[in-house]
Amino acid sequence: MASQPRRFGLSKSKITAFEQCPKRLWLSVHRRDLAEQDDGATARFATGHEVGAIACALLPDGVMVDAEPDLAAALDSTRALLDTGHDRPIFEATLEHDGVLVRIDILEPDGAGGWLMAEVKSSTKAKDYHVGDLATQLWVARNAGVPITRAAIRHIDTRFVLEREGDWTGLFADTDLAALAEPITATRPDVVAAARIALAGTEPAISPSAHCETPFPCEFAGYCHAAVPAGPDWPVTVLPNGGGKRWIERNITDLFAIDPAELTSAVQKRVYEATVTGKVYHDVAGARAAMSAWAFPRAWLDFETIAFAVPRWIGTKPYSQVPFQFSAHIEEADGTIVHREFLSLDGSDPRRACAEALVAIIPITGAVIGYNASFEKSRILELAAAFPDLADALQGIADRIVDLLPVTRAHWYHRDQRGSWSIKAVLPTVAADMDYASLEVKDGGNAQEAYIEAITEGCTPERRMALDLALRAYCGRDTEAMIVLARRLCAENAESM
Ligand code: SF4
Repeated sequence: MASQPRRFGLSKSKITAFEQCPKRLWLSVHRRDLAEQDDGATARFATGHEVGAIACALLPDGVMVDAEPDLAAALDSTRALLDTGHDRPIFEATLEHDGVLVRIDILEPDGAGGWLMAEVKSSTKAKDYHVGDLATQLWVARNAGVPITRAAIRHIDTRFVLEREGDWTGLFADTDLAALAEPITATRPDVVAAARIALAGTEPAISPSAHCETPFPCEFAGYCHAAVPAGPDWPVTVLPNGGGKRWIERNITDLFAIDPAELTSAVQKRVYEATVTGKVYHDVAGARAAMSAWAFPRAWLDFETIAFAVPRWIGTKPYSQVPFQFSAHIEEADGTIVHREFLSLDGSDPRRACAEALVAIIPITGAVIGYNASFEKSRILELAAAFPDLADALQGIADRIVDLLPVTRAHWYHRDQRGSWSIKAVLPTVAADMDYASLEVKDGGNAQEAYIEAITEGCTPERRMALDLALRAYCGRDTEAMIVLARRLCAENAESM
């Protein structure tokens, strides 16, 4: 007798992976060892866990379905609850249909014999791909005999303000997607069958493209890209503002192969010219003119901030950008520079101390200079709104903020920036010895991770001191880099590479 083909068990996340890319599903089952987690995966997981726990805590009469010792036990427990007329919320209800197993974050009785289904997310709104997720769960639940009358994404409500410690009432808002998910449930049998066919076959021949990032960055990107022949040294994607797209659509990937006469944007022309000639674009007169009105003493300012999905401090909102650090280099007209800074690593609300430090450190006259300075200005205005007694002084600082980024974008381009004017892309082109590679904290994401580690219970004094030093070195590098860059922009003789 011919053996039966293996019937692969599926889940909501496997079907989501299949709908993004059949190869992603195939690799996740057959070559899990090739997956690479990105740097932020651990933090995202921790946030998701915290948000999920709070959503459950807001329903204190709910019952958790444990997957102990395994998912079969969770299926049995769920079935027992449903069959015995359980009339309270159920967390992680586990259901199966046609070999597809789903765990539903929250089932709530609707009071009329049906159930409200909610998937808890740390995002601030429902997203397009959530509709497909809910459709899979609706399809399984209905076929498992559970009457679902509403299917919602329970996401963070950004209007929430923490007013009492531990009181999360109002943290979530529901977006009911049942009407959108309903028609998609009819597609599930075909999708499930196609996923099983893909899994039973050999590795799908799919090349990386834009789909690898949507709806999630794929964990197999490293593996797939390694198999792709190296592209041109200077791809059309270095053209800023999505300027490479029109060429890629015509199968032109090499910047050297395009017709520059078709470039209409001045900045794209500049990038093209600098790249093909190897000559730096440097408009000294323009840069000097742009900065000539920046009065001394100049305060070169940079913030590091933390944004928690679940607010920690009274008066803060979800994803509020709370400054826990700033660096300020104060430059006098004679060229002398003094470095001042603020850093809070004790885990308390850093805003008041940060506001006071700003008022104490930033001179009462002169330009306050940021790089992409709208960020610094917004944080200062938020501090002014939070602390009325300091509002006038903080408003006075905000009123004097100017921005080095647009000056750089208009007057400098080196092809090694590869289409970016971020300070980290520009700095190596003006001061190769000032890169960030040697620093322990290398970017804003690292700074947030360091902050969270430092304020987490269990961080030793020695480790906190090491993180303190690393954060100060990083933020100080940012403001020092601005001065070096500004001086370079105003200096003659910055020509070819
Ligand atoms: S990297 Fe792209 S092509 Fe490769 S498995 Fe992931 S989504 Fe598919």
